[in-house]
Amino acid sequence: MLNISLEKRNDLLGTHVVKSLKQRHFEAYYYKTSKEAVEKILEILPKKESVSWGGSVTLEEIGLIKRVREEYDMAVDRDKAITIADRYEIMQKAIFCDNYLTSVNAVSEDGQLVNVDGTGNRVAAMAFGPKRVIVVAGINKVVKTWGDAITRARTYASPANAQRVPNIKTPCLSTGTCEDCQSADCICTYIVTTRISRPKGRIHVVLIGETLGF
Ligand code: SF4
Repeated sequence: MLNISLEKRNDLLGTHVVKSLKQRHFEAYYYKTSKEAVEKILEILPKKESVSWGGSVTLEEIGLIKRVREEYDMAVDRDKAITIADRYEIMQKAIFCDNYLTSVNAVSEDGQLVNVDGTGNRVAAMAFGPKRVIVVAGINKVVKTWGDAITRARTYASPANAQRVPNIKTPCLSTGTCEDCQSADCICTYIVTTRISRPKGRIHVVLIGETLGF
């Protein structure tokens, strides 16, 4: 149960950021709870269209991936791959799905999305391919400025994400902080800002008044 002051602040901030996002031609929504948000996302996603997703703690935490696996016949799921080559092929197919689900590393109050990506599949699908992209983020990912968003993504989200990626060797794994590495396993290959949605309305951003992911 959230403290009432924090809940009020989250609602105000969420509403404010939704307004900023809409000015940048995103479809944008704020929900107090992930339960409400999941139902809305499933309404947006047509059952007869293909759908895939990028690796995301947020999407797992809110139960969205589980629902999509259960309810969508055309789900393109890289976790069904047996070999690394199969997995790569499924990731390529995801870029041409009708719909793509992802989270984001940071959102600035003026409505810009910042993502850091190692392989690039997630930022590629966000930028081009799927006709509809749905970005889900907890209110904890909202920061004041675009510069703050870059800082959050690089110094907080990435070292935390590195801890969950199997079989990599990066300096942040042992220090817990970004060492600005050039490791072959670096998970910070691409640092991408999405300033606007083009075409208008292609990217939907669903903000949730909860702490989700990192
Ligand atoms: S040390 Fe390397 S992999 Fe780790 S957060 Fe920094 S740039 Fe990314």
